[in-house]
Amino acid sequence: MALKTILKQSRYAPLTPLVRLHNLLADVLVPSACPVCYQPVGNDDGLCAPCWQDIEFITGPVCRRTGLPMPVDLGAETICPLARAQPPRYDKARAAFAYNGSGSALIKRMKFGDRPELAALLARLIHARLPEMLPRHALLVPVPLHRRRLVWRRFNQAAESCRHLAALSGQSMAENVVARIRPTAQQIGLSRAGRKRNLRGAFAVPQSQQHRLKGRAVVLVDDVLTTGATVEALTRILRRAGAAPIYVVTAARVVLPERV
Ligand SMILES: [Zn+2]
Repeated sequence: MALKTILKQSRYAPLTPLVRLHNLLADVLVPSACPVCYQPVGNDDGLCAPCWQDIEFITGPVCRRTGLPMPVDLGAETICPLARAQPPRYDKARAAFAYNGSGSALIKRMKFGDRPELAALLARLIHARLPEMLPRHALLVPVPLHRRRLVWRRFNQAAESCRHLAALSGQSMAENVVARIRPTAQQIGLSRAGRKRNLRGAFAVPQSQQHRLKGRAVVLVDDVLTTGATVEALTRILRRAGAAPIYVVTAARVVLPERV
């Protein structure tokens, strides 16, 4: 079977060691390839035209709090049922595109295909599409990874995107204002209550960093927003340290949380 065929078939599948090896070889042999489908492209970090067209950018009305796409715009009253029933602690969350198709494939390639440089592309999309989420003088804070997972993955994808976003917007990135002090199980497959339990006591603001947060606007940066349990847990401790307002920006978000 041709290398390209194997890669195309693996587009949305979990990356097996064999596919990882093929992807690694493809990256070396075809450096200017689309990171989603591996077709050759003219630039180094771009997607091919069909993969671009497959990204579902969030352009219509969204819930004022969570950023979930909504069928109609009711002004200030555009609030999704989940946010109405249980208002999030953060002020508002927004994402550039829906976590499906090429959009999710791109993020999986970055995280699990060992391609941290794709974070630059995600940061450019956030910067271009969500300028209202980057208020002046805000601190950009990446969602931290526990050091054990950092060793396994080699890089924190949120920190990579955040670094590029800070360079584009001219804002300060504050990577150490919050730490993941307890390793947590993967959130995938857990119920809403289970996710909350899993994250209890997972984050802390070091004493030495408290003064940086008092009265400061914070923008939490991550690659994907799923149920929002992680950013809720983080918002809780950032609020306690005096940060306000607290925004959440992600490259992608799951648009149907019940399917997570
Ligand atoms: Zn492509």
